[in-house]
Amino acid sequence: MNISLNRWLDEAAMDPMLMPDFERICSFGGRLAGSGQDSDALDWTIGRLNEVRRGARRVEVSYDGWVCEKAELLLLGRSETLSSRPLLRSMATPPEGLEAAVIDLGKGRQSDFDAAGEQIRGRIVLVRHEYPFSPTHLHRRKKYDMAVSRGAAGFLIANNLPEQGLLSGSSGRGRGKPGIPAAYIDRESADRIASAGPNAPIRLTIAGKELEGSTAGVGVLDIPGEFEERVVISAHIDGHDLGESALDNATGVATALAAARALAMRVGRGTNSLRICFFSAEEWALSGSAGYLKSLEASELATLKLNINLDTVAGDENLTALTSDFPGLEPFVERASSAADLHIGSYLPLMANSDHANFAALGVPAMRLLAGFDRPSSRVNNILSAGDRMPAVRESELRRALRATSALAWLGLTASSSELTSLAARSS
Ligand SMILES: [Zn+2]
Repeated sequence: MNISLNRWLDEAAMDPMLMPDFERICSFGGRLAGSGQDSDALDWTIGRLNEVRRGARRVEVSYDGWVCEKAELLLLGRSETLSSRPLLRSMATPPEGLEAAVIDLGKGRQSDFDAAGEQIRGRIVLVRHEYPFSPTHLHRRKKYDMAVSRGAAGFLIANNLPEQGLLSGSSGRGRGKPGIPAAYIDRESADRIASAGPNAPIRLTIAGKELEGSTAGVGVLDIPGEFEERVVISAHIDGHDLGESALDNATGVATALAAARALAMRVGRGTNSLRICFFSAEEWALSGSAGYLKSLEASELATLKLNINLDTVAGDENLTALTSDFPGLEPFVERASSAADLHIGSYLPLMANSDHANFAALGVPAMRLLAGFDRPSSRVNNILSAGDRMPAVRESELRRALRATSALAWLGLTASSSELTSLAARSS
């Protein structure tokens, strides 16, 4: 079986439209949800799905839309304006700005917050962004949540890399929920604040507008097999507007389209069914996929047996499956690795950093395929920055991701009911 599987995977990985699709998706721009670029890119992607198999559809789910109207950061005393970018859905400051002293908490780990204790109250905490794909990092939103719970007046998170400019990210704050004004700053601005001495006073001004009735599109294509059990390949189409969101996540969308083309010819008699999903508003605390899954009837949800979520699948030659606390996925990934004749690592603890987390939360065995896990010097470190553009991606990496995706999906599409059920056992 491996020889013929290998030949088929070789052909799949040579898909001539992989790179043109990737470049076309990047050409829409950064595709920030609500900008229109995400919606246009989704329509184009659904058109491509319809070329694979007619019947691709677009559904809309609601999410808490928001737009930044003003952002300004001033280092008082020196009257220097620093570079800043509010987190998505940041709490606004008073119109005249928030004036407070900065407390520098280094990386902003829990021990840093603990050591500062009551000094945090009423101050603006400054922490550092970390490369998000490693076993040891602490996510921005966890740092933000600690700042809120310890009584900080504001939150600044500095790029850890010099000369990379600003980053984009979400605060995770829901509509009407409490929070504090929060923004990214660049590394050089953090250095200037530090050089102004401890408790440097700053003025942060953020204004944003809630957008009522915002919806995020979801593109869906079903390719029915003989059995109703479904493998879902997903990827998010939206991104941030500093760059082209090439790594994160034109790589995933282009790979999913090519995998759909390769698999559509093989799904049918004797196989499970395949569903392809493209989500928007992933960068908004995973709202798009959450809304979509919530909209499904229980009987339909019960047919979803495996989620392979493609998010940032190039930018490094190493591929890892984040297996969301489903131990049965580890041997599954190993089998796909050997069938595809390439190495796919796996990492068991749940990392709620993409849409697979919403599938996992509903008990669906879910993995995120990711490039550059625990490789902070890889080109994946351009995500969320202006450097997330096409040159950060190599064709060979995308082809490797396509080969891995096709092998993983095929293993799921040919698994028996009992094999699929065994994937769903949880660690604890
Ligand atoms: Zn992503």
